[in-house]
Amino acid sequence: MENKQLNILAFGAHADDVEIGMAGTIAKLVSEGKRIGICDLTDADLSSNGNVILRKEEAARAAEILEVSVRTTMGFPDRGLLLNQEYIRKIADVIRTYKPQVVFAPYFEDRHPDHGNCARLVEEAVFSAGIKKYKTDKCNDPHRVEKMYYYMINGFHNPDFTIDISTFINKKLAALRAYKSQFEYSEQSYNTPLVNGYIETVEARERMFGKMVGVTYAEGFKTKVPLLLRHDLIGE
Ligand SMILES: [Zn+2]
Repeated sequence: MENKQLNILAFGAHADDVEIGMAGTIAKLVSEGKRIGICDLTDADLSSNGNVILRKEEAARAAEILEVSVRTTMGFPDRGLLLNQEYIRKIADVIRTYKPQVVFAPYFEDRHPDHGNCARLVEEAVFSAGIKKYKTDKCNDPHRVEKMYYYMINGFHNPDFTIDISTFINKKLAALRAYKSQFEYSEQSYNTPLVNGYIETVEARERMFGKMVGVTYAEGFKTKVPLLLRHDLIGE
């Protein structure tokens, strides 16, 4: 049977969430031979610009640029990510199928409520996926995720840890630019903050995170549990 196991599975509410928060980290880990997956909980059917078909094409293009092993969508309704057993069970199934060591979700302090709701659902699913007697629809082998971390979408928060993405910033920007319908202003665009220099603000944020830790660009993450430092206490 095909080995579906991933090192990392990153969840987002909408295609582009994961790229905004951690495309640089993904590109870096892929270059190190890691297997990464992205799972979008909705098809972003309420996006002000673009439509579901276009957004899927753009998401596929971004996934190609980042060379992720898997990109999948749950197809839950946009603005409908409320805590319920069915969604938790379906997400737990995905976790059991791909058996990631590490799961990422959006940081819950974010102006868009779907991002926080996505994090809550994924947290619940991560917990349930590890319970032996918890039944899911397809894959009933329990899987324990080792770590769960949070990436930032709209917010600028003091990160708990950062990843140096200095040599991968261009890949991150290319992945974001794949979402033309979201970030590129055209005559037809509904005027939202996304089409008014959004990518530049993400780049500026990563520059600032980089400055905080003495590199050119970094992505910032949050964690609920303290990190155990294994390397780098005293340089390389
Ligand atoms: Zn989003």
